[in-house]
Amino acid sequence: MVLSPPTWSDPAAQARATHGEQIAPIEGVPGQVEIRRENGQREVFCGLTSIVWLHRRMPDAFFLVVGSRTCAHLVQSAAGVMIFAEPRFGTAILGERDLAGLADANEELDRLVGDLLERRPEIRTLFLVGSCPSEVIKLDLAKAAERLTHRHRGRVRVLNYSGSGIETTFTQGEDQALMALLPLMPASDEGQLLIVGTLADAVEDRFMALFARMGLPVVRSLPPRRSTELPPVGKGTRVLLAQPFLSATARALVHRGAQLIEAPYPFGVEGSAAWMAAAAAAFSIPAETVAAVLDPLVERGKRALAPHRERLAGKRLFLLPDSQMEIPLARFLSRECGMELVEVGVPYLDRQLMATELALLPPGTTICEGQDVERQLERVRSERPDLVVCGLGLANPLEAEGIATKWSIELVFSPIHGCDQAGDLAELFARPLSRRGLLTFG
Ligand code: SF4
Repeated sequence: MVLSPPTWSDPAAQARATHGEQIAPIEGVPGQVEIRRENGQREVFCGLTSIVWLHRRMPDAFFLVVGSRTCAHLVQSAAGVMIFAEPRFGTAILGERDLAGLADANEELDRLVGDLLERRPEIRTLFLVGSCPSEVIKLDLAKAAERLTHRHRGRVRVLNYSGSGIETTFTQGEDQALMALLPLMPASDEGQLLIVGTLADAVEDRFMALFARMGLPVVRSLPPRRSTELPPVGKGTRVLLAQPFLSATARALVHRGAQLIEAPYPFGVEGSAAWMAAAAAAFSIPAETVAAVLDPLVERGKRALAPHRERLAGKRLFLLPDSQMEIPLARFLSRECGMELVEVGVPYLDRQLMATELALLPPGTTICEGQDVERQLERVRSERPDLVVCGLGLANPLEAEGIATKWSIELVFSPIHGCDQAGDLAELFARPLSRRGLLTFG
């Protein structure tokens, strides 16, 4: 099934604009879920964090964070922990400059980019990534990108986007980076399936092979592995979102003529099979061809899930808002692993991109959009769930209080998409429970 062009306004702004707490039925899903909205202090990484997986995806791109020492520490420590490679990001520290010093700041940025390009001739796309400090906000990075593209024409393309914590949560950084690439995508009405959202290379290869076996003619990805080989977009493009946090990119692709394929996200056996089947249906692939490819995968996936389901079934789960992947994960953990959902937090709720997922949640599920961290922690303490999925900053204090936690950021870095990965995905949630069991009874 194909969605009509979306009409939602900026969901993050929508989330920020809501006040206090209220319960409301969700449009189009009567009585299925309850939505609670909160607006208070948030505990979420900023969009700079997404550089960690984006630079791995596009090795010929470089991410230059224009920010403070705090930004440098965040990116370097996140990347230092998560990857073992020569970094393809840097930080231009432009603190302590006032408006009067802007000319100097621009000069300094130009000099830094010149030095960088001389040292790193392999860079084909350079992203200037904005951040929160007021000195950076005063800089016009779009103009700087234009100026630098002109200066280094034929050598590198310079783009810009914001990873600022004021505007983005950590997965929204990818949405912003893709939005920066979008104007460079050529126009073409050629029929194609466009998978949108970063996947681990091995997982993507597997999906490509499966779609080829189903007979899909042309399948491409955004972001591509080479930053300069951008896929085209136009009326023949059917967009299949691999990640649930790409609202702005999805809207912009539809604006360029593409159609969104309505499907759950490819987490777990059920979600992944439905995701692939929806793509095949958009290209009128016969049901028996799809079944011949998917049935063995589904069977194998269910077998791999079974031992983890035994560990997880009946356990109470509380998801705090962080990665924007909470709703699809809650659907997987409740339907396929038998977990009981206490509360599902989400940084913002994009009703259109989540419609299929919401319809699959157990009746009465409580969704909390936005965050007031102290109130959420109070509810965690009074509910005493068996497992809390949360950001790094909240995990340690909760563990110290005897509550098992799972870091949501790990889910963005792990290859968890597809029927083949369902067992591994369930194991990521079973492991903290087993560890706590050992600590308690060992
Ligand atoms: Fe930099 Fe702002 Fe992110 Fe802090 S929240 S690391 S200041 S962009």
